[in-house]
Amino acid sequence: MARSTYPDVEIPAQSVYELLFGDLDDADLDRIALVDGSTGDETTYRQLIAQVDALAGALAARGLGVGDTVGILCPNLPEFATVFHGVLRAGGTATTINSLYTVGEIASQLKSADAHWLFTVSPLLPQAAEAALAVGIADDHLVVIDGAEGHPSLRDLLFDRAAPPDVHFDPATHLAVLPFSSGTTGHPKGVMLTHQNLVANVLQSEQVIPLGRDDRVLAVLPFFHIYGLSVLLDFALLKRASLVTMPKFELAEFLRVTSEHVCTWLFIAPPIAVALAKHPLVDDYDLTGVDVIFSGAAPLDGALAQAVAERIGCTVCQGYGMTEASPVTHAIPVARADIDRSSIGLALPNTECRVIDPETGEDVAVPESGPSAPGELLVRGPQVMTGYLADEASTAQALDAEGWLHTGDIATVDAEGVYVIVDRLKELIKYKGYQVAPAVLEAVLLTHPEVVDAAVIGIDDEDGQEVPKAFVVRRADADLDEEVVMAYVAERVAGHEKVRMVEFIEVIPKSSSGKILRKDLRSKVGRHAAVG
Ligand code: AMP
Repeated sequence: MARSTYPDVEIPAQSVYELLFGDLDDADLDRIALVDGSTGDETTYRQLIAQVDALAGALAARGLGVGDTVGILCPNLPEFATVFHGVLRAGGTATTINSLYTVGEIASQLKSADAHWLFTVSPLLPQAAEAALAVGIADDHLVVIDGAEGHPSLRDLLFDRAAPPDVHFDPATHLAVLPFSSGTTGHPKGVMLTHQNLVANVLQSEQVIPLGRDDRVLAVLPFFHIYGLSVLLDFALLKRASLVTMPKFELAEFLRVTSEHVCTWLFIAPPIAVALAKHPLVDDYDLTGVDVIFSGAAPLDGALAQAVAERIGCTVCQGYGMTEASPVTHAIPVARADIDRSSIGLALPNTECRVIDPETGEDVAVPESGPSAPGELLVRGPQVMTGYLADEASTAQALDAEGWLHTGDIATVDAEGVYVIVDRLKELIKYKGYQVAPAVLEAVLLTHPEVVDAAVIGIDDEDGQEVPKAFVVRRADADLDEEVVMAYVAERVAGHEKVRMVEFIEVIPKSSSGKILRKDLRSKVGRHAAVG
């Protein structure tokens, strides 16, 4: 077991609102908190806080109280910040939903989270309304931020000018956010993150991420995912930086916004690094304002990081985390140019780690020089979730009796405390940084009448990015080809969850208890062959 090499930081018993907005002087209040990257519209901290308070007041006046859950299905717009912090300020819990989700997926998350309110935007209203209807959310609780006939808009709620409620809750136990993650296995589950979890992660991150008041941070990582939510909507706002929002990633627009708004910090996932290293369009834009690019959510190759650093002329760092850890547990400190870019750097303050042999459960030995043997990474700290919502079995599988979170990732560690993720033990697939749960795709494949059995794993494409591949056993008389299988799945899942390769096989390898032996499938395609 190793504690972080950093001294512990104090984690106050505060709500997210108190930490972020409890103590601003006039100069900070007049700073720009948010810039809409598409329109250039600006929101100051003073305006943001006034909106957050007004929304909290309106929600409380309409019956929302401590313990009520609100769905947010919205791309990255400045209003997302108002809605998220307004819900928390009112004592509510936000369940943030992937805006690429299908109606079925939205409804399933709303139902599992027991949400009675949903915030969305007019372009997503068709799927939001269908999902809301399916779970019994009334029209007056389906808020269309930019307005739509028959629903309250954000402006309507703010217009109430109701005073924010005087809510009381324990930040250590009260849930701030319920993002969904499939964790190490199965279908997406609600990850219970308290105010304390989020407050802790922001203060832990401060030690390695030197963001400041003069920084302009590109907010392209989706706010619904805990990485964007915590690093952008919590951390960057605490540091009084300005967030420049982008509703979706599109390379030319990304480059335009970065260049025109002179963004100094880019938080990204690895596919954006691939574009930044290789795409000719990058040369058409002035990116000299960029100081730091920080990549997370999936593995960043060291050579790719180097190529980006050289081409853009900035520092490139990598961090690691998971939804279940609010999310950050490790990062390369920006000041440490000596640390290998293909590593995930050091454990954050207040974070303990173990690297254990998955077979024996024993900690691996850390040699005096060079990396340890690979083993499963376990983490423990104030940022770790309290569990999965209403799912004791999955909680017990992820969090052991001593509070260690079993990450399902395989890492090495050296004597300096530098960790490298070398493989993934769990079945989760990361497509462009988005979670894809094999269990979800397998369930869809099995609904096809000509599919007898199916298993899905992640494999690397030619750019080294992970994509879902299905192994399918078809009925003897079936007339099924790869294209038909891919089209069948594509019609039933969100775009990022599509199966991108198919192989027909005789039988899916399974253990005596019926568990899919993914490692046998992986060794078939030559990936993740070592462990798992
Ligand atoms: P999520 O809960 O969506 O944030 O996914 C967490 C998972 O993403 C981790 O358990 C890892 O498998 C993967 N991941 C995140 N960051 C990294 C990284 N820097 N290197 C390798 N894998 C990563």
